Amino acid sequence: MKVIILGDSGVGKTSLMNQYVHKKFSPQYKATIGADFLSKEIQIDDKLVTLQIWDTAGQERFQSLGVAFYRGADCCVIVYDVNNNKSFDNLDHWKDEFLVQAAPRNKESFPFVVVGNKIDQDNGESRVVSEYKARRWCAVNGNIPHFETSAKEDINVDAAFMNVAKNALSNEPVDE
Ligand code: GDP
Ligand code: MG
Repeated sequence: MKVIILGDSGVGKTSLMNQYVHKKFSPQYKATIGADFLSKEIQIDDKLVTLQIWDTAGQERFQSLGVAFYRGADCCVIVYDVNNNKSFDNLDHWKDEFLVQAAPRNKESFPFVVVGNKIDQDNGESRVVSEYKARRWCAVNGNIPHFETSAKEDINVDAAFMNVAKNALSNEPVDE
């Protein structure tokens, strides 16, 4: 199953993926990773499924991601930083961009998951996006599941990706 991670540069997409797959957090900024995607096997009920998690190589800052990135996605994770209003405002942009580029047949029911990351930062003192506000956006946009995480402290990362996997499984298969 293919999962893609979108969101503004710097919100912690690569860190979330590394925490989930490798149980590692590195404080340095990494503009790029070597591979297009990382794989992780996960047990859901009685099924063993392989999640293929696609991360950008940092090009979300200055160019479009290309059709291969979006093609065949079963779930789209959109990440914002709870300490950065702009990254939250851009949820609309990333959702629209996904629907245009991936052009899934089931636009209304395609599974998205929204993740508010960096809840650990300054012990929460620098938070500007409330959980309430984020949940409202998710409700209005078709009841999208919402998680708040810290890739740094490994808070809620497994729970978020477990939900992602379940949602990816529920996506209707499309012939390509
Ligand atoms: P990306 O551009 O969305 O892939 O973001 P990165 O994963 O490269 O992270 C950008 C910066 O935010 C890096 O310096 C990370 O160390 C930092 N970062 C990522 N996740 C967290 C987090 O949960 N908490 C804190 N405090 N910093 C984080
Ligand atoms: Mg990155």
